[in-house]
Amino acid sequence: MKRDEALDILEKAEEILKKYTLCDRCLGRQFALLGYGLNNMERGSAIKTLLLMKADLLINEGDQRGVDLLKTLGSKGLSDSARATLRKRKGETVKKGECYICEGKFELLDELTEKTIERLKEYEFRSFLIGIDLPREVEEREDELKAEFKVEYGENLRNEFSREIGKRISKKLSKKVDYKTPDLVVLINPFENRIEVQSNPLFIGGRYRKLKRGIPQTKWLCSKCMGRGCERCNWTGKMYPESIQELIAKPVLDLTLGKEAVLHAAGREDIDVLMLGDGRPFVIEVKEPKKRFLDLEELTERINEYAKGKVEVLNLRFVDRKTVREIKKSESAEKIYRAVVKFNREITDEEIEALEKTLNGAKITQRTPTRVLHRRADKIREKYIYETKIKKLMPDMLEFRIRSEGGLYIKELIDGDGGRTRPSVADIIGVEGKVEKLDVLKVVKNLGGL
Ligand SMILES: [Zn+2]
Ligand SMILES: [Zn+2]
Repeated sequence: MKRDEALDILEKAEEILKKYTLCDRCLGRQFALLGYGLNNMERGSAIKTLLLMKADLLINEGDQRGVDLLKTLGSKGLSDSARATLRKRKGETVKKGECYICEGKFELLDELTEKTIERLKEYEFRSFLIGIDLPREVEEREDELKAEFKVEYGENLRNEFSREIGKRISKKLSKKVDYKTPDLVVLINPFENRIEVQSNPLFIGGRYRKLKRGIPQTKWLCSKCMGRGCERCNWTGKMYPESIQELIAKPVLDLTLGKEAVLHAAGREDIDVLMLGDGRPFVIEVKEPKKRFLDLEELTERINEYAKGKVEVLNLRFVDRKTVREIKKSESAEKIYRAVVKFNREITDEEIEALEKTLNGAKITQRTPTRVLHRRADKIREKYIYETKIKKLMPDMLEFRIRSEGGLYIKELIDGDGGRTRPSVADIIGVEGKVEKLDVLKVVKNLGGL
């Protein structure tokens, strides 16, 4: 004879309810993969309705099992109709229990949704994801029940909670659930009534120009106290009062109400080097932002007002984490440098010609410069110079325009760093020059679209 699947569902449900008290959702969830367009409350309620009708039928036939089933449904099935039927047919009453798995927490779905929406009011966002934090014993209870009754078509509590709350919030606020890159992740613990909101970072890309010397790219910790604050740094913990990062971050944090803003740039210029031309690509990463629907023109104005005469930003746009990876890889982007070099004697036209000739298309081998050895590994790099143009400013002063691979140490290219950089200007003409002024005129490649 063919197996009666529908009966199997009812029999299994009856077996489960004989042993465990379950609300409609927690019972229906054990059959969650059966039937589309239904929710688990409908599944559980339908099963209990059918069992109730079966019990009534048994009572009509004078079968005592009908009364037992009504009692089960009234107490462990939490069914009001079963208790009403029992009272009417037999004049008996039973007490309602508490759901063995969820402890009645599913009844709080709407309340939790409202509380969550209240918490989300201070955030601007387009998409979100609900995460559910459950006590371990709750998950274990459900897993054990599933194993005991060989539940094959169920889903778990966590899924149902996150889906149901997600659905409600999505509908009420017209925001979408995004599993990959949500603006907000909301972590809810229904058992402890706890809601945590994590705002994912906001990324704004653009280019900066550095107009004043003596400003490091990022905050430079005081080398004496390592940031704790001491007499030498005037209790600021910093070697320099401001950095490009801080100058850009302040207005960004004012507008986004974020916790912290981190600067990622396509390479860096030294503290005494200007960044001119159309600027250096960067991304500022805002952590835990509350506002993200920014007017970037307004932000540009605010930064450029705040950092006036020191730093200027341009081409601001919204980007993502991928752009950060791209610009971090791009340290070797082609750049044009301008160096003004003073020598301790006059340089002849022949020497200038020799320099241009040697330095055009030259492969420069550099060991990590002595001056940065304390913070960088000692290794050998090869960098190409594509073009060198030299102008005589004074008999003993030359201006070099060098177009090269990024990451070429220009100061060492001039003075040779005691033979660590080869060839160098000092090698070629046998006289050591000192870089008086160094600027980056252009970052040639367009990185990450910035
Ligand atoms: Zn339940
Ligand atoms: Zn200090």
